Amino acid sequence: MFATLSDRLSDTFKNLRGKGRLSEADIDATAREIRIALLEADVALPVVKQFVGAVKERARGEEVSKALNPAQQIVKIVNEELVAILGGETRRLRYAKNGPTVIMLAGLQGAGKTTLAAKLALWLKDQGKTPILVACDLQRPNAVNQLQVNGERVGVPVYAPEPGNGVGDPVAVARASIEEAKRRLHDVVIVDTAGRLGVDAELMQQAADIRDAVRPDEVLFVVDAMIGQDAVSTAQAFLDGVGYDGVVLTKLDGDARGGAALSIASITGKPVMFASNGEKLTDFDLFHPDRMASRILDMGDMMSLIEQAERTFDAEQAMKAADKLAGRGDGEFTLDDFLEQMQQVRKLGSLSKIMGMLPGMGQFREQLENFDEREIDRIQAIIQSMTPAERANPKIIDGSRRARIAKGSGRQVSDVNQLVDRFFEARKMMQQMARGGGMPGMPGMPG
Ligand code: GDP
Repeated sequence: MFATLSDRLSDTFKNLRGKGRLSEADIDATAREIRIALLEADVALPVVKQFVGAVKERARGEEVSKALNPAQQIVKIVNEELVAILGGETRRLRYAKNGPTVIMLAGLQGAGKTTLAAKLALWLKDQGKTPILVACDLQRPNAVNQLQVNGERVGVPVYAPEPGNGVGDPVAVARASIEEAKRRLHDVVIVDTAGRLGVDAELMQQAADIRDAVRPDEVLFVVDAMIGQDAVSTAQAFLDGVGYDGVVLTKLDGDARGGAALSIASITGKPVMFASNGEKLTDFDLFHPDRMASRILDMGDMMSLIEQAERTFDAEQAMKAADKLAGRGDGEFTLDDFLEQMQQVRKLGSLSKIMGMLPGMGQFREQLENFDEREIDRIQAIIQSMTPAERANPKIIDGSRRARIAKGSGRQVSDVNQLVDRFFEARKMMQQMARGGGMPGMPGMPG
């Protein structure tokens, strides 16, 4: 989402590199470039002004003039100011002390509310909560059904008005759902409300009435990050009309410029609490301003990567493989281990998504986006066409076996050769590193 901004800022910093001292002209030029970068990314003007003002003031101060490396100091300042406009510290959900925690969602139609309700429910469930979803969007014909389908997919019950009971009163449904949640001992109630295509008084009144009926612990305003500057005005309208405690940005996986997303917290004074970044129901997490800033500045997001790995990886299995690879465990690292590791990494998501979280990957963005994920399927197919004996002991894979494997996997013999050769190279390299032999000229991994 923030590719252009990221590139722009990185060019700005490049111009500063190697400078021992920053002149007034350097600071002005840098400030101007940052200003253009933010405006081009669609960041709201008042936010840009405030941001550039703060960076400029700090750039003239002692922390930069006394720094050993002023350019790096500027990056640090920009990073800190980005974190600040994104809301500072990570704002976590507040749970009710007594009775169920009530979370109400509000936002325009199409913002991604219903999808988000299910994502949030799954996220809570993964943390040991027992949520229930409540369908109060009785406006959009298919909304109740959509919530029921999503609820089923994440294994969370949905409270909805009985079909055929007339039009239904969303306020009454919301009120009744709290009683139902108490009776059935759900500890979190997620109330999905109706959205409209545009902001209107009736929609606001209905949302406000639901709010008064369920007295939520958290009201979350859900907004599509792709809608640009409109996001800021909609956020303001909902703040005035319903009020909310936090913002959820959806569709952060899109390729819009994203600046509006960066402006909302500053303009409304409400923190971004969650981010939704894909069609899959697991594409959702807490929003961490520091990590987002890091990503924008291409400093990587190792924390999110590690957390994601912890959630999906089989740690014991990975440790065993690492030991084998280092020659410490029982037996050698085999193609079976390799296949298993590859499948584990795959569970983390697409390779371009994973690589994008590593620092300094901005320069490879284009290659990453063009990377053909099917390449991994091809490697898997080749390995799966080997016999168990071949996978366990790849040394026995001679010419005639290679021809058979190529045929079995629908690939060329040269593809099999390349995979086997690279496997041996990589294994050798890892073993040398494990013995403290340092890094020999880094051969590429297969693929
Ligand atoms: P609602 O009208 O606010 O309830 O919006 P929906 O939940 O029905 O979502 C509208 C559309 O946006 C659907 O097609 C969703 O699949 C899609 N969508 C929701 N969240 C995301 C997201 O994070 N990324 C992407 N790419 N699409 C999303």
